[in-house]
Amino acid sequence: MIDVINLKKSYGNLDVLKGITISIKEGEKVAIIGPSGSGKSTFLRCLNCMEDPTSGSIIFEGVDIADMRVDINIHRRHMGMVFQQFNLFNNKTVIENIMLAPVYIGIHDLNSKKFKNFFIRLRNIFSKEKKPLYEINTTREKIKADARENALRLLRRIGLEDKANVYPSTLSGGQKQRIAIVRALAMNPKVILFDEPTSALDPEMVGEVLDLIKQLAAEGMTLVIVTHEMGFAREIATRVLFMDEGRILEENTPDEIFSNPQNIRTKEFLSKVL
Ligand code: ADP
Ligand code: MG
Repeated sequence: MIDVINLKKSYGNLDVLKGITISIKEGEKVAIIGPSGSGKSTFLRCLNCMEDPTSGSIIFEGVDIADMRVDINIHRRHMGMVFQQFNLFNNKTVIENIMLAPVYIGIHDLNSKKFKNFFIRLRNIFSKEKKPLYEINTTREKIKADARENALRLLRRIGLEDKANVYPSTLSGGQKQRIAIVRALAMNPKVILFDEPTSALDPEMVGEVLDLIKQLAAEGMTLVIVTHEMGFAREIATRVLFMDEGRILEENTPDEIFSNPQNIRTKEFLSKVL
């Protein structure tokens, strides 16, 4: 699903990613561990096109999304992202947060079809060969109604239907993060990237967020998770990557990494966190 080839990212003369090569298959659950400052967040942001790589390729379903000429918005909609700090829009209600991207994309697609049809009509006036128009079987109202229905279904799933019309500031950290997760799900992503999804939570709220991620894992969703929750990584990951100083120093099954680490840096890191 994703092939990362020799990905490098520098900020000025700070080389943060020094050549990352990794393939992620559909359905895999990849946990990324490693010390603070090793480039884990930068790597996820490159995967999601929130950062332009300095060099290298990221092939997502056959298209190099590191290539500036590619319309990243088309690809980004298939990659959900969940952040440590939730990143909900505080001036929008819970349901508006969840509906925002699907409505935006839906209307964008609708407008671009209308726009293309306009030019096909013009062309057809002057050309002998008549091109068919794009079929438009939706409206703005339909797009919004569908997004609302889907958002309510997702809120029901996490037991927060009654929070649909409140603002995020009234929610607990665990509730905010579960809403951020279903907001990502609302786009029907093919993969979800998590950047330390439980690091900003009070301890008693970690469980509810991990449980929801576990459910997604069990449903077969492809997941890439930067985490400090080693027990969780061990439980759900199909593969663990250890990153240090902008490189993947070791990758293996969770059992191997945690009970039999090979790299000296992995051993040092695990001895501190386990
Ligand atoms: P991690 O998530 O593993 O803690 P990061 O990817 O956040 O690491 O950061 C890796 C390094 O890149 C750090 O030294 C950080 O200061 C630097 N860095 C990250 N983002 C930027 C940025 N936008 N501009 C400059 N330096 C950055
Ligand atoms: Mg980070």
